[in-house]
Amino acid sequence: MAANDTQEGGCGCGHTRYRVSGDPIFVNNCHCTLCQHQTGSTSVVNAFFEAERVTLLAGALSESVVTAGSGGAHTICRCEACGVALWSFYPRLGRLGLGLRVGTLDDNGAFTPDAVIFTDEAMPWVTFPEGIPRFAKTYNPKDILPPERIERLMAMAERRRAGEG
Ligand SMILES: [Zn+2]
Ligand SMILES: [Zn+2]
Repeated sequence: MAANDTQEGGCGCGHTRYRVSGDPIFVNNCHCTLCQHQTGSTSVVNAFFEAERVTLLAGALSESVVTAGSGGAHTICRCEACGVALWSFYPRLGRLGLGLRVGTLDDNGAFTPDAVIFTDEAMPWVTFPEGIPRFAKTYNPKDILPPERIERLMAMAERRRAGEG
């Protein structure tokens, strides 16, 4: 894989560094109140990848478990030194896929959101970007993602059904 097919990032204190390979399956900018409480900010930008595309290069992670919107366990992986969240595992895909916090990448323009979601829970003064589809809640990935990304998503769901993760 060419060098420009990878991105690197890390936490706020420099203890942890990671590398991620290729393009995300999808990128969401989520404004739900859970994400607001979990980040202390307006919203979160998560890029979803197969877990094997992400490699921890330096440092160590701690995990904290919160309740996902679906009611299952959402595991947040943080720098053990500064506590900054780098990525999360969600109930539906177990440990097969993760949502990487785009704000921890060295290049903050590497991945653009495919969708802005849960706009009906956004802070009342927030405005939304032009040119990015927005949804009051969520969306059906098949409505906005190209077929090759749907295939990657289906492949992970199939592995999960087969008992992986
Ligand atoms: Zn740190
Ligand atoms: Zn959210």
